[in-house]
Amino acid sequence: MKEVLYKFFKYLFFIYFMKCFYCEKDAIVRIPYSKLWLCKDHYIEYIQRRVLETIKRYKLIKKGQKILVGVSGGKDSTSLYHMLLNIKDKIDFELIGLHINLGIYDFSKKSLEVIKNFSKEYNTEFIILDSKEIIGAYLPETLIKLGAKILPNYKVKYIRPACSICGSLKRYILNIIANELNVDYIALGHHMDDLLPYIIKNFFLQDLHSISKLGPKTEKIDSLVGRIRPLYEISEEEIKLYAKLSGIPYLEDQCPFKYGSKRIETKIREFLDKMEKENPGFKISLARAIARNIKFYEKEEEIKLNKCKYCGMPTSKDICEFCRITKRAFGEPKGLYVKEKISEILKGIK
Ligand code: AMP
Ligand code: ZN
Ligand code: ZN
Repeated sequence: MKEVLYKFFKYLFFIYFMKCFYCEKDAIVRIPYSKLWLCKDHYIEYIQRRVLETIKRYKLIKKGQKILVGVSGGKDSTSLYHMLLNIKDKIDFELIGLHINLGIYDFSKKSLEVIKNFSKEYNTEFIILDSKEIIGAYLPETLIKLGAKILPNYKVKYIRPACSICGSLKRYILNIIANELNVDYIALGHHMDDLLPYIIKNFFLQDLHSISKLGPKTEKIDSLVGRIRPLYEISEEEIKLYAKLSGIPYLEDQCPFKYGSKRIETKIREFLDKMEKENPGFKISLARAIARNIKFYEKEEEIKLNKCKYCGMPTSKDICEFCRITKRAFGEPKGLYVKEKISEILKGIK
């Protein structure tokens, strides 16, 4: 108890007296691993600089490339979009923001509000797609058609978690749009605290092939567009603070379908956070070491991809995940239909 009080007062003392490393303003945050005290503006600049360094370190974006960012309205992907908007002229790339309205009750309505507010505030356009218009139903209806039961507290009773169905639909739609718009990469809002526990869990389970897809960059395979993760070396806490201090609109609510904790990942994350506290910089070193060896995991298991017999997209089975889900829900695989629909909508926007 004494020690906690001592630490608390020491922190208050520093916050009161410390100045920003780069200017005369009072510092409001300390970055333990780089031993820096920073004011609000320099913190925002510092995080943007680290993301720019990540992009350069892993050669994520080159001059003249086209990058599509899926923006959900949550703190991670909205911050990512804001960061890329601020650094895009330093590399000179084209940035396209995309939001998919999944129709998840109030949550999706609020997300859409955030996107519209962001658009207005920063004078930037997003492509907004409505999943009902594309697939024929919003996510809750799709889940019910699949045979799921949605309880009054939004708990979904189904053989698969709702997030996994939603993820499959989103990934397919994002990929179709990326192909239609001829983009070089899709940028995702996954950060270090999302990725490291998942990578380590896969290592424990010796699912090495999955690790190869969780690094800072996954290259294109056939018509599966490559993915980049510019937040690969940024922690969740740093993003939370970035979102707050930069004043961007974002939604704090969690999706109502997201419940229950991933127990193994949570335990690993607690361990990593403890290590980080005792050895500042530990998580970044680990992330860099994994990225250096990721090619090793790629070679472990080469999966030969087939083409989906309904839509022609690459898949490890004979029918892709999207066609399988939509066939079960609507009685017909919707891959090809969705491709045409998206192409039609995008022509209207251009
Ligand atoms: P998740 O599957 O929730 O981890 O989301 C993975 C990534 O997909 C996020 O980091 C976003 O970049 C993107 N994303 C999630 N939800 C949406 C959405 N509604 N519209 C567009 N992109 C999204
Ligand atoms: Zn400053
Ligand atoms: Zn298909």
